[in-house]
Amino acid sequence: MSIYADDVVSFTSVLKIAYNFLTGRDYLLKKKSNEKKKLISVALGFPDLVYAADSIPVFPIRMEKFKINLYLLALNTAKSLFGWNITTNLLGIARQLDFLKIVDTIINDVLSTINQKYNDMYELGIVDEKPSNLCYGVNAIYGMHKSQYENIDANLKFTIRCSEWNKYSESLKTIIPNQIWVDIPSIENENQEKSLDIMRDNVDKAIIELEKVTGNIVTDNSLKKQFRIGNQVKRYYKTILHEIGSSDFYPCNPATFAEILGLLTISFQDYNSNAQRYLENMSHLIKEMRERVKKGIGMDVSNTPRLLVSPIFNGWEPETHEIIYKFGGRVIYADWDILGLLEEIPVSKDSDPIMDYAHFLLNASNKGIHCLKNCDTLVNSYLEYTKKWGFNGVIFNQLVDCHTNYSNCYELLKNKIRNELRKPTVIVRFKKIGENIEDLKMKLTPFMDLLTQ
Ligand code: SF4
Repeated sequence: MSIYADDVVSFTSVLKIAYNFLTGRDYLLKKKSNEKKKLISVALGFPDLVYAADSIPVFPIRMEKFKINLYLLALNTAKSLFGWNITTNLLGIARQLDFLKIVDTIINDVLSTINQKYNDMYELGIVDEKPSNLCYGVNAIYGMHKSQYENIDANLKFTIRCSEWNKYSESLKTIIPNQIWVDIPSIENENQEKSLDIMRDNVDKAIIELEKVTGNIVTDNSLKKQFRIGNQVKRYYKTILHEIGSSDFYPCNPATFAEILGLLTISFQDYNSNAQRYLENMSHLIKEMRERVKKGIGMDVSNTPRLLVSPIFNGWEPETHEIIYKFGGRVIYADWDILGLLEEIPVSKDSDPIMDYAHFLLNASNKGIHCLKNCDTLVNSYLEYTKKWGFNGVIFNQLVDCHTNYSNCYELLKNKIRNELRKPTVIVRFKKIGENIEDLKMKLTPFMDLLTQ
């Protein structure tokens, strides 16, 4: 992982998001022991019900011990003494003096530590008595649960139309008995109204289960409060993707921008276990980005092809954005937007939050995240997204061990975007972080030549 400390150091908000991500273990264990909060594991960006139950959602990798804690400890001490803005200035000064290369080390470690830990979780996940041949993402999530099951009070899961994912879900029962599953009905065979009723019913049941596990009541108000926070987070996220990501001048170099998007893709899944804090960090991030652009700090990217790389949420090679940057391109990671998870949930005085959440889940399902039997749905989502946001090309990240339709869709996707939008597309294959980097470069070379000639 390369170092772009010059660009990141003035982003206090990025340091905060990274810090909160990596120090999750201490934060969560304190919440559990001191405040008796229940920790509920989540994935894929569905933490709202847990927050509404006054409990803490956690994407379990954040409960791991990360090896850079020593540096972060130093950062935390400075933070407690001076506050974050001054800390960032101090770090800037420290770097100029080459003082222990603290800044470089932090930025480098934040990114490579997360990736290393993902690989560790994947390794932990594959050696077990569960079904073999699961994809990287499913194995990694299984590994995270296997590693942290003692700290997790329950697992909240939204079932998807992938038999491998559902096989993994079954095997999790043996290590985490409290399983709260929300089935999202298949839209193919149901009419809209019936699907909505089933969906609402399933959300209701999940809430009852959550209340049992947490001992807290979920009210309309607690749901609406959480949806308001979530909506604002989503608005900020979309501002970063569309206002900043589509502009001709970036507040940093494109590789750093992609690294920030990568960090957001991972941390969005549980809002770093503190929705209000995450919201504030996102708000600062926008402010800092706009200020830098206004002052002309950053990089002119007007002649740099903008490429969509997706999906990455189940595992991808983070070298991708660096390779593309070196080839003269820029990468946008936008999984949650493409798959409908950045859609807002309407909130008003008389609204029915459970029904509105049911709508939100079905809409996300319609975009493709749960609709793997129907390739057309996914193809349309990508086609529309590429057209709407004017990407110069698309790189599809295919997980080697994905044997479902999701993978088979890529050929169709590739051809549709080529033929209908006349945009170059390429499929890259991913097995494990750090493997096949040379193959990746070889695959991307002719693709980038086409775009930059
Ligand atoms: S569809 Fe493929 S990539 Fe997605 S969870 Fe299932 S096996 Fe993994």
